[in-house]
Amino acid sequence: MTSPSDMNSNLNRFRSIALGSSSKQSDPQQQQQQQPQETLKLKLRRTPKEEHEPEHYEDLQLDFNPSLFRSLERFLPENLLSSTRTEKVRAMSDLLLRYSPETERIRVQKHREYRQNILSSYQRLHGELYTLDPASFFVPSFLDAVSKRSEESFKSIIVRVAPGIYTFDMFKPQFCQMFIAEVENMEKWFHYSKSSMMRPTTINRFGVVLDDFGLGSMLQKLLEDFISPISQFLFPEVCGTGLDSHHGYAIEYGKYRDTDVGFHVDDSEVTLNVCLGNQFTGAELYFRGVRCDNHVTSEIKENYDYSQVSGQAVLHHGRHRHGARAITSGRLVNLIMWCRSSTFREAKRYQKDFSSWCGGCKVEKHYRQQAAIKATVEALKRRGAER
Ligand SMILES: [Zn+2]
Repeated sequence: MTSPSDMNSNLNRFRSIALGSSSKQSDPQQQQQQQPQETLKLKLRRTPKEEHEPEHYEDLQLDFNPSLFRSLERFLPENLLSSTRTEKVRAMSDLLLRYSPETERIRVQKHREYRQNILSSYQRLHGELYTLDPASFFVPSFLDAVSKRSEESFKSIIVRVAPGIYTFDMFKPQFCQMFIAEVENMEKWFHYSKSSMMRPTTINRFGVVLDDFGLGSMLQKLLEDFISPISQFLFPEVCGTGLDSHHGYAIEYGKYRDTDVGFHVDDSEVTLNVCLGNQFTGAELYFRGVRCDNHVTSEIKENYDYSQVSGQAVLHHGRHRHGARAITSGRLVNLIMWCRSSTFREAKRYQKDFSSWCGGCKVEKHYRQQAAIKATVEALKRRGAER
C-alpha cells in the first residue's frame, strides 16, 4: 500500500530544467503569477560546489525528501550558499515545486494548506510528546542498547520471533498512555472542526498521519538516532547506508474504527510497528514472506503469526507481505513508521535481481544455478563420450 502524500523526486530532471532547457515548461506567464520574483531569478550552478558542506534538513516539515535538499544545496549560487537555512529551504522548495508536474504541484500545495490549517488550530494535549526525550519515552533496556550501538547490545534486547521479524520492548507505559490520548485528541479535533481527514494509507478508513499534526520532527529524530542504527544491523541489504525519511501514522482498531488490516506490503524499506495497547484481544499480525514488486503475488510458503504486546515494537522489512487479523474485543492503537532510504531507492532503479532479500528472486536464482550446473555436467559427459 502507499501513502497518499508520497512523491518520487528526480533531482536530475529538476536540475536540467532549472539550468535552462525551458522548452518543455508550461505557460511561463502562469508560472510568473505563482512564483515569487527571486525564485524566477534563481539559476543553479552547472557543477556542484563539492567543497561546500550542505545543511541538514531532516528536522523540518518539507514537501520533498530532506536528502534532496542536501544534494540540491551544492548547486545553489554563491549568494544563497551563505544565506540562512530558512532562505535556502524557501528557494529550493519553490524551485522544486515550480518544476514538478502540474498534478504533483497541486497535490503538494493542497497538502501544505491542509497541514497549515491543522497546525494553526490544533490544541496539543501533551506538548511533551512533540520533542523526543529518550529518558522519558523509552524503557531503560532499549535506551541502553541503542546508546552502545554494538552487535552485542542490540542482540541483548532484540527477539527474532520468525525469519525477518524482530521484536523489542521500546516505550514506557506512561508514554503509551499519553500517545493514545493524543491520537484520540487528534480524531476529536477533526470531528469537531468538521474538516475531512487525509487517512494514513490507501487501505485505512481510520487513523491519523502524525506528521500532519507536527510530530514529524520528533519521528525523524526517532528514525535517525534509534531506528536507523538497529535497522542497519538487522536489514543491511536494504538500509546499509542508513534510513533518511519516514511516513508516520497511528491506526486504531476497534468498534467504530478499523477492525482489521488487509494483506499488503508497505512503501518502506523497514517498518516500525509499535503496539501502544489498551485492553484488547485478537488483532494478531500475520506475515507471508518478503517479496519484490515482481513476486509480490507469488505463492505463499512462509506463515508467521505474531500476537501484539503493549509497549512492544515489531520491526520488519517493508516488503514483508503482511496484515492484521480482526480485533475481537476492546480497542488498540498502533504507532507505525514507514522508514525509507533514498540511497537504496536510487540503487534499486538499476537492479533486477533482489535475491539478497526477495524470496521469489532467491528461488529463481537457485533454479538458474541448478540449470547451469546441470548443463555443465551434460557438456562434460558429452565431451567424455566423444573421446
Ligand atoms: Zn523478487
